[in-house]
Amino acid sequence: MASDVPTFAVPPGFLGSGRREGAAISIAGIPLDIGTTNRSGARFGPQAIRQASRMLVDGAHPTTGMNVSELLSDIGDFRIALGDIPASLKAIEAQAAAVDHLVALGGEHGVTLALLRALARRNGPLGLIHFDAHVDTWPDNFGQPYAHGSVFYHAIEENLVDPRRMIQIGIRSPVEREVLDWTAGRGVTVVTAQDTHEQGPTAVAERARSVVGAAPCYLSFDIDALDPAFAPGTGTPEIGGLASWQTQSILRRLTGLRFLGMDVVEVAPAYDVAEITSLAAATMVYEYVALAAAMRLQQRSA
Ligand code: MN
Ligand code: MN
Repeated sequence: MASDVPTFAVPPGFLGSGRREGAAISIAGIPLDIGTTNRSGARFGPQAIRQASRMLVDGAHPTTGMNVSELLSDIGDFRIALGDIPASLKAIEAQAAAVDHLVALGGEHGVTLALLRALARRNGPLGLIHFDAHVDTWPDNFGQPYAHGSVFYHAIEENLVDPRRMIQIGIRSPVEREVLDWTAGRGVTVVTAQDTHEQGPTAVAERARSVVGAAPCYLSFDIDALDPAFAPGTGTPEIGGLASWQTQSILRRLTGLRFLGMDVVEVAPAYDVAEITSLAAATMVYEYVALAAAMRLQQRSA
């Protein structure tokens, strides 16, 4: 048991978890970062997030009482095709399709397209809660159609997500008017970082719940949604972002939603300081697993 040893000595899987049959949720790393447009290095995100997650093993989750590590199987990292984005997306989709409830540790945001393809094939178009500084609905990035800033353009065009059940939280980067218009025109709800600061996490969580509704949904968390003060270790930082307590507070209020999976992406450890970015990423996963597990228990007892 991970909790039987000091935090610094737990095994190297997420929350000290190894591969385990019958676990509620599987964790996998996806070390792809060749679609990043500024700083690279998110390929080292999975191991940094696992390392930082050791801080979270010594006790139950503080608000739900869930023993989060007991719910997990860490199945290791997915294979990618070195230097080839489309082939990597194919490989990731095939590996994700074999997993029931997957939480992915990125890697860049482009990996989410493959994960949504795998899920939508099974479940149809999903609702989406998307934390990010960027809308990621550019039709291409500098001519590359499958770079990390185009993931939700394709997800909408391929009918993997229902844009009317999609909310973006933390948005604040420079962006072309036509990209914003396209996004809003498809029905996506955009909550800027400034909206979040002014309205508070409770109001934003309520908005997210009403946008997503009761049908199946997915959580995609780009760590650059957080302010660089809370997450400097990322490829495309933008100031004025969310505090880690704000996103934690929003996540804790998303009880009862039908989540089918999650990813946390864009952690680039080479730019991190004292593990604050990877600990924030690990904690968002921890919050999600506690939330999803509590929901499963509710459904079973209902
Ligand atoms: Mn971003
Ligand atoms: Mn992103």
